[in-house]
Amino acid sequence: MKGFKKFASNAYRREPIPDDPLKLRVGIFAPPLVEAFQPSLTLPYLSAQMQSFGFTPNCHNLSSLFYIWLFRKVRLESVELYRSLRDAMSVLRDPDRFYNPEDYHEALEYLEDYAAELAERDKIPYTLFPASRVSIISKEIDLSSFVKSMAGTLLEKFLFDYVGFTLQLETFDVIGFSANNTFQLLSSIFIAQKLKQAKIPAHLVLGGHAVSIADPVVREDDELAGCFDSLVLEGGGDVFAQICDDLVKHRVKRIYKSCDVSSRYRQTEGLFPLGSPYHLSLQHDINDLYLSPHQIFSIHSAFGCNYGACIFCSSNRKSALYAPRNINILVDEMEWLQDQYRISHFNISDNNFSPDRAALLCDELEKRGKKIIWQCTSRVYDEYNTQLLKRMRENGCALVNVGLESASDSILNQMKKGYTVKQVERMLDDLAEVKMPVHLYCICGFPGETSRDSERTVSFLKKHAGQYHSVYFQDYDAQLANKVFTNELGNDTLGYDAKRMMDILMNDRDVNQNFAQYGNLIRLKGYPFIEDHNFLYLAKEFGYPVKNKK
Ligand code: SF4
Repeated sequence: MKGFKKFASNAYRREPIPDDPLKLRVGIFAPPLVEAFQPSLTLPYLSAQMQSFGFTPNCHNLSSLFYIWLFRKVRLESVELYRSLRDAMSVLRDPDRFYNPEDYHEALEYLEDYAAELAERDKIPYTLFPASRVSIISKEIDLSSFVKSMAGTLLEKFLFDYVGFTLQLETFDVIGFSANNTFQLLSSIFIAQKLKQAKIPAHLVLGGHAVSIADPVVREDDELAGCFDSLVLEGGGDVFAQICDDLVKHRVKRIYKSCDVSSRYRQTEGLFPLGSPYHLSLQHDINDLYLSPHQIFSIHSAFGCNYGACIFCSSNRKSALYAPRNINILVDEMEWLQDQYRISHFNISDNNFSPDRAALLCDELEKRGKKIIWQCTSRVYDEYNTQLLKRMRENGCALVNVGLESASDSILNQMKKGYTVKQVERMLDDLAEVKMPVHLYCICGFPGETSRDSERTVSFLKKHAGQYHSVYFQDYDAQLANKVFTNELGNDTLGYDAKRMMDILMNDRDVNQNFAQYGNLIRLKGYPFIEDHNFLYLAKEFGYPVKNKK
């Protein structure tokens, strides 16, 4: 607290709040902790949306900055340790050594062990893989005590040493935190409490997925959420812009939802501008955030899902609209990110990149003669046939994430996935034929699932083990935070949970020989991925398949 108090001693002599919202000094932060060494997806888009209204927000990913600070600060404690950590990071950024599985894992483990040692000391889950280790944030913890326990930790030191001074928080009129997991929610509260104690005059706003799904008790708890001036339960940059507008008009509220957005900030075509490129400004030290030889960035091609029928999904059309962007605008943006920030790999982060969109992307890349490496996620479609998949390979598609969910027709039917196991098999065959790397998602313990359904899925995964590179197992009840029809579906299930599914699968001799298990993920040994908790960002493409000469 001392640091912020000291910091507060100038009593923040500053200009009064301007009467034009566009002149407000706005800061938006992704609080610690999310995946280390990965640029936040939320911030650039939130900022782009606000820029489309004329605001000029200043964005910082405090999580990535924290990890950089954590590894660099060692220099003052032990040069030897600092050199070892620096060497491990260099291995991961070296194209030759990164793709050597032994070097890769040794370097990664060295860094992770160091983070784990500090985590043990501070009782805070510092980790390079947030979901691969049992989270300290369990449902049972007392949230207030957890926030209090952050005092005296490295996280607090980082806030004093780095955030307080480097980011000059006292100069902002509005500071927003976008929290997407429980830890981020709690660390936002911790930071906001410190800012209020230090009398930093900015209007403090908390939003993000973690706030939308938080128990109302948390949001109403004065000790926890009282340090925020406004809470955003729904919406993005549009709501943030509205808050700024209300602030200058002295009518700012505590709780905001999408319906509070006035026509000035309402985008009729969707949550984001769709017909023009976003000005995605990434933090200047973006390249420091990667522990890989390639820079990978997640990019949206559409909001929502054009299928939109799956009963468990938040992209179900009953609750979410579908708003695709022009593909040529998407490619403009990719080119711009390539030129400006040396981003070489793109993860098209739509939940369901449909075949017609994939074909349009191929058209555009072919037209421009552009070499971009990309990956996408999709449900199973008959239209994803050898012909289209081959074109995608030729145009730089390096990985397809497929929502298998279950290999039981009865469960697929209940989920309203709109395809059968036979159709999945056909698509896997075609993906294998064009040598497309594949990642599968499975939902475990879906309401109404029986042990027989689970066994079917495990058998399917054993049978097709040569046709995918990795599988992520997601527990329906515990992990599928976005599920929106919980009441209709209930939670009764006799299906196996993720752990049981993986245990059975890994007991298979062939699977065991070829795959390694990390948390809820199994992945092909030695295949170079950058690992995330349930997404896999491909780090290397082994060159483009040669196009057939006509
Ligand atoms: S699960 Fe996938 S395909 Fe189904 S509605 Fe959601 S995003 Fe669309």
